[in-house]
This record gives sequence, structure tokens and C-alpha cells, in this order.
Amino acid sequence: MRVFSNPVGSGTLWFDNLITADGTPVGYDPQARSFIASPPYCANREIIGCNWIAPEPGAFCRSCAMTALAPDRSVPNAIPNWAITEAAKRWVLDNLGRWSWFRPEDRGTRPVFHMLAEGPTPVSMGHIEGVVTISVAEADEVVRTTRRQALDEPYRTMIGHMRHEIAHMLWWRLSLRADFLDAFRALFGDERADYSAALQRHYNNGPPPNWRDHYLTSYASSHPHEDWAETSANLLHLTDIADSFVASGLHSPAVPDSGWDAYAETDPARLIHIAASLTIGINHVNRSMGLSDIYPFVLSPAAHRKLAFVHEWLRRGALGR
Ligand SMILES: [Zn+2]
Ligand SMILES: [Zn+2]
Repeated sequence: MRVFSNPVGSGTLWFDNLITADGTPVGYDPQARSFIASPPYCANREIIGCNWIAPEPGAFCRSCAMTALAPDRSVPNAIPNWAITEAAKRWVLDNLGRWSWFRPEDRGTRPVFHMLAEGPTPVSMGHIEGVVTISVAEADEVVRTTRRQALDEPYRTMIGHMRHEIAHMLWWRLSLRADFLDAFRALFGDERADYSAALQRHYNNGPPPNWRDHYLTSYASSHPHEDWAETSANLLHLTDIADSFVASGLHSPAVPDSGWDAYAETDPARLIHIAASLTIGINHVNRSMGLSDIYPFVLSPAAHRKLAFVHEWLRRGALGR
């Protein structure tokens, strides 16, 4: 993620900022990728702190307009959880916009989001034909950590959920092209395999013992659809870590120069090598605060090949190149 300049003074602004350091209200223009200090702001600004601008007074921003179902406000903490969830969505949409996904120049279908609060039964997250369902309850750290531990996952965040679920939607968009499916199946396997049976098998028996040789996560081994979503989420993690590193003014021998743009990098091997080198250093920095690793995944040769495939298609897919 970029770091932004202040439109009404000195200093920088971070992606989620609603005001400058001296308290002037600002809004983020997702088209120009810069902050402005004049309305109209998103209609969700007061309720969930959305800082994007709107096309006209009283309207939703481009991100909030994609949310067809908002959580039931009578559920405790539904609004603060929804606010965190929408912030993760804006972040990931802006990342994907670097490759033109869902921006005005992308003429394809937009995702529709169902942001659901949870009652006694958990909401299962997923994607079906353009509709992405997200449980806002997972914005709650206790809920999310409990599930992460129950599923024995090294990493679980709202940004991670967004990247994974939107990746399913991107797969669906790409599958409408004539040239995608054969290439996909050659590397990831045949996604027409029975999905529910595959997931049931995964939850009953666990992953194959050598899953690390072939998959980034154990869940990715459950079905080609999940392998795609997990790999795509990781490609987005790695690209954005590298972009944020450079945007923050940090330096590393791994980064070619200060003008290097992770999202403009055309060589996936180079991008993944740079990002992976940075994560090793940042993991070490995190340990100095007793925090978990920023990137707790190991990249096998198979993972490299799949990440490169995803990179190629996500870079060119939105504009149909
Ligand atoms: Zn908004
Ligand atoms: Zn999935």
C-alpha cells in the first residue's frame, strides 16, 4: 500500500485516515489514489468510518456500493465488526485496483458482498457466482483467534479472508475466458472434482502428509478451488508487503531501487524473491516485539510455480489482455 501526501498541509496520510494530523477532514479518492479535503464523502463515513469519497452527496463510495447486505445491527458489536471488515475490503480492493480490477476501466462483473453478523450458528464465508459472503464476527479478535487455533492455522486476518474470498470471485471472472481453464487445470488440477466431498475429506482426514511440497497451506490441499484462493491470497500478501515496505521509505539490498513498484513488476520470480527476502527480515523485526511472524509460510518450488501463474493472470486478467 502506498503512503499518501496531505492535500492541505505537510506530512503524510495513511490509507485509513479520516483526518489529517491537525484535524482537517479528508477523504480518499480511489480513482486518483490520493486524498482530497472536500466532500462528498461516503454515506457510510459516520457509521463505520469509511474514508472514501462518493460520486455525489448522500451516495456510497465505490467499495461500500458493492455491499448488498450489511450486518443485522441488533447483533452485539455488529457495527464495529462491520467497520473493521469494510476497512479490510477497501484495502484489498485498492490493492487489486493496481491491476485494474473493479475500477471503471474494468468492464467485467463486480463482486457483490454479503456482510453478515453471526447469531448462534457461524456464518460460512464463501463465494458463489460473484457473491462474496463474509462473517463480520471474525473481526473480533477473540472469535478469530479461537477459530485459528481450532483449525490449526498459522495466519487468519480479515485482510486474509478478503483476499481469499475475492480470489474465488476472480477465478470465476477468469473462467469466463476461453484461454484460462486448461492452463489452470494443468497446474492446479481439475476443479470439477466434487467440492463438498473434497472438503469433507479434508476435515475428516486432514491434509496429505507431504502437503508442504505442493501447497502453501494445508487447506489449499483440499480442492483446486481452495488451492487457487490460498495461492492468490499469498500472491496478494507478498506483493503488498513489498509495496508497503518500499512506500514506507525502508531500504533493503533485496529491493532494486527506491522507485521500484511491486505492482508494476512483470517478472513474478523477481517479485516473489524480493518479497520473500523482505518477509524474512520483517519476521525478525516482529519477534523483537514478541509478535508472530508477518509471513508464516514457506515457499516450495511448487508454490513458486503457482504464485507465478496467479501473478500472470491477476496482472492481465482485469483488462482482458
Ligand atoms: Zn464507503
Ligand atoms: Zn475458499
